[in-house]
Amino acid sequence: MSVLLAPLPRAATALVEAPSAPTPYLDLDVAAATTRFRRLAAALPGTGVHYAVKANPDPSLLATLAAAGCRFDVASPVEALAALDAGAAPSDLVYSNPVKRREDVGFAARLGVRLFVVDSADETRKVAAAAPGTSVLCRIATSGEGSDWALSRKYGCSPDQAVTLLRTAALAGLDPAGVCFHVGSQQRDPQAWAAPVEAAARVFQALHADGLDPWLLDLGGGFPAHLEDGAPPLAAYGAGIERALRRAFGAHRPRTIVEPGRAIVADAGTLVSTVIAVVERRGTRWVYLDAGVFSGLVETLDEAIRYRVRTSADGGPVGPCVLAGPTCDSADVLYERVPVRLPLSLAEGDTVRLMSAGAYTTCYSTVGFNGFPPLRTRLV
Ligand SMILES: *Cc1c(COP(=O)(O)O)cnc(C)c1O
Repeated sequence: MSVLLAPLPRAATALVEAPSAPTPYLDLDVAAATTRFRRLAAALPGTGVHYAVKANPDPSLLATLAAAGCRFDVASPVEALAALDAGAAPSDLVYSNPVKRREDVGFAARLGVRLFVVDSADETRKVAAAAPGTSVLCRIATSGEGSDWALSRKYGCSPDQAVTLLRTAALAGLDPAGVCFHVGSQQRDPQAWAAPVEAAARVFQALHADGLDPWLLDLGGGFPAHLEDGAPPLAAYGAGIERALRRAFGAHRPRTIVEPGRAIVADAGTLVSTVIAVVERRGTRWVYLDAGVFSGLVETLDEAIRYRVRTSADGGPVGPCVLAGPTCDSADVLYERVPVRLPLSLAEGDTVRLMSAGAYTTCYSTVGFNGFPPLRTRLV
């Protein structure tokens, strides 16, 4: 142990810089992301699109989206600054993190952000104190059913609590703007918005009965990328949401916004990696890549997000393979429970491409766990 903790000898320091690996990296096509933004906006006419910066905060991506008329969903001071640097106006931002540092709320308010999300009485009082007079959305919980990456446990209150909370917000001098929710990421069911839209409509009704005037419904993210099992087209989501809004709100529809992350940037990115070894273990073929859970593929945990895989050896016979990353952590296995069918000829040095990997990868990468560098971005 003491040997490992000792400073690296000079020779080792030199080695760290020696074999600069060409992979892994993310090929990111910002024009493709802009096309996805336009498609989603077209599928949801009249609904404002706020790109969720956490999916991929690449500065040229943000600038290109801003120039195309996209607005932003941010969750921290650094994300707010990134959106403003990209050319967004403070009024283009929704600060959607339901639980925030008090200092961060004040900082965002000084930047000019006017729309915050809350889901508890404490947080409402915090926003009233640190960002007086701003607008708040109350996040209601959803089941997360139908999604590959549920966001159902950490945030969100009941519709009844939302009514109480938005009344509290009004008494505290805030604008009780309305309701938000998230149906879970990579949501495969275009009807998943129906239940929360219905719940939101009941909250709006109760507030109207109090003489308050909520005006904004934030339909969240969750729109899908082109992953292994496919998903309905964006138009099906637009139709499902339109039907839900018409049924729940009739002619008294509030303004609506969405916060897509994955649907905009995932399909615009390809993670390019190299096979470092193929090993037979107890009758199973293990393919080790130079990219893994710690170089950005965090969403493969529990095999929740399944990327489509293309290799430089495609074309020949295939067989089931376990796909693993390069670090010595046993969690660094991408797909084992459900193996991936890969070419039997796949060998060291072959290229493996994980498709639609532009979301939640570069920003999930560790700074250098086990000495493997963070995932780089290459703009194409
Ligand atoms: C992560 C997140 C999003 C983006 O979700 P996607 O499933 O990537 O579209 C939107 N809104 C909030 C509040 C989020 O936390």
